[in-house]
Amino acid sequence: MINSKNTKKLKKKSSVRCKVCNNETEIIYENEDAHYPVFSCPQHGIQQDEWKRWWEQYSEKWKDKQARENPRDKLVCLIGYFCYKYKQFYGHPYTFDSSNPIPYKSKDFIIGRRILSMFDNDITDSLLYIKWVFLKKVASRKRTVSSLGFFSLTNLVNEYKCAKALNNVIKRQTNLPEDFINWCKQNYNNVFEKHSLSTWNDLNVLISFVNTFGNDNEEGHIINEAINRNLINSVNGSPQFKSLED
Ligand SMILES: [Zn+2]
Repeated sequence: MINSKNTKKLKKKSSVRCKVCNNETEIIYENEDAHYPVFSCPQHGIQQDEWKRWWEQYSEKWKDKQARENPRDKLVCLIGYFCYKYKQFYGHPYTFDSSNPIPYKSKDFIIGRRILSMFDNDITDSLLYIKWVFLKKVASRKRTVSSLGFFSLTNLVNEYKCAKALNNVIKRQTNLPEDFINWCKQNYNNVFEKHSLSTWNDLNVLISFVNTFGNDNEEGHIINEAINRNLINSVNGSPQFKSLED
């Protein structure tokens, strides 16, 4: 039996037919976190509940960082996360498109796939994008999210990508990562007496020191560590200056 408190009946008839009497089933919306359709015959009960089974198995997969990376689970993570964010912002559940009894063939899932492909199937970036849209557009009341389709708007995707690119620009005075500085202090604290080492520009200065005096010294060990941490690149063993903006 379905708990009547959490369900909403839709008068609309569906394309799913009852296996017993062959009449069209009614669509019943279930669940408090996202409304998904269950197809039920007034006489013979639930006829198709793939949405329910999908929801119970996959809706919280996005919380597991390893599962997220599984190519098979990226889409379910995106949909689950979207539903979570939607409920969090609006206080009421998202209602899925009910035209298809199979979740994977529904409009929302097709759109979810499109969003993933816009981010080269990078699930982390896709989830950050969803978070960003709710934070920047919905919280500031600039836009209202009425469906998952809203997220596949190219102008919105491009705006996110530009904002992200802008965030990734490293300036001369941008501070170096704290864990790198801590590593340097723990291992080569003397270097801080000879050089100033806190910004990316300081790191470039250290590279020119190594280029002049060789890398068999404390400075060289620090530069090697920066290469190991992918802070800077090395070509044929020589450290490359980081291009920085003013
Ligand atoms: Zn029936």
